[in-house]
Amino acid sequence: VRSHTVNVNASRVELQSITRNFGSVTALSNFSLTIEPGEMVALLGPSGCGKTTALRALAGLEDIDAGTIVIDDADVSDLPAHKRDMAMVFQAYSLMPHMTVRQNLEFVLKIRKISPRERTENTTRYLDMVGLTGHAEHFPHQLSGGQRQRVAIARALAVDPKVLLLDEPLSALDAKVRVQLREEIRALQLDSGITALFVTHDQEEALAMADRVAVMYQGKIAQIGAPQEIYERPESEFVARFIGQVNDIPCTVETGQAVTAYGRVPLLEWSATDAQTVLVRPENIAIEATDAPVGHSNTAVIEQFHYLGSVASVAVRSADGLLLHAQVPAREGAELVLGATVSVHLRRQAALAV
Ligand code: ATP
Repeated sequence: VRSHTVNVNASRVELQSITRNFGSVTALSNFSLTIEPGEMVALLGPSGCGKTTALRALAGLEDIDAGTIVIDDADVSDLPAHKRDMAMVFQAYSLMPHMTVRQNLEFVLKIRKISPRERTENTTRYLDMVGLTGHAEHFPHQLSGGQRQRVAIARALAVDPKVLLLDEPLSALDAKVRVQLREEIRALQLDSGITALFVTHDQEEALAMADRVAVMYQGKIAQIGAPQEIYERPESEFVARFIGQVNDIPCTVETGQAVTAYGRVPLLEWSATDAQTVLVRPENIAIEATDAPVGHSNTAVIEQFHYLGSVASVAVRSADGLLLHAQVPAREGAELVLGATVSVHLRRQAALAV
């Protein structure tokens, strides 16, 4: 369970019915989003769906054609970027290369007319917070990618902005650093209680870091909710397919349940009543080695087995030719050798039928 520091000064952000066109391309189409004080929202969606445009519109870096942007009850739609009191962290570390780490932080504080004493204090405090005290006198080129991004985050927080904006801040980093830094960013955001908006195309990152994930599609929000809600209770075929993986399993619908060759599954309430396909996640397909003859109603043959460390991804071919992807705990995979016959049944986890 995540706990927020209650930050009584945290800001509330509202993007109301924003439209932004680039020629004939509509990047944002009547787009609305409210971020509660101290909340971290992730914008997630396929390339070109408008994530960056939404973030830049909020920052004041992008004009809008229609709509209103409200911060704490004040309409800021016409304010230039530097008067919106937001700080942004970009994918490419936008540090000043000829300044030391300390000078990079002090510089942005000076621009904001913070007194020299407070500048030194703030810089020391925020460098300590991101664990870079020992690197204060280094130049950006002397730091690793992860360290540079920590400086960028310290610099963003040091100006005590109303809103923290993060535009794919981890995309340039290697996998291990990315996972470590996403935990650190989330911890810093929770500690400071700052309101934050985060753009990513990495769904794991969005699910791991955000209080709520907004899945975007063609300039609009397709669904917004807590990570678990988005993953377990997708309201549309687009969201079900975009987040995680699904198997298309033929079905008939009977009183709120999908009836399949592998058992019954309760259906999410948005399911079509005349649906013929139920979308089932790999971890909700259970497979078990069996002596039953192949061709028996719910048997299948293992066609692929990928050991991934903590889990194994197993593809099985059913008697009627359907290829199903299951995910099992890796240590349960010992009997699941290529060519083995397995029985297949679906876990009774609610799914979407389409
Ligand atoms: P990605 O994940 O690829 O960064 P995105 O979801 O951030 O994509 P945006 O960058 O917001 O998407 O772009 C949304 C749409 O608007 C795209 O079709 C893009 O080509 C278009 N677009 C964005 N900026 C401009 C611009 N300055 N001029 C013309 N078209 C633009």
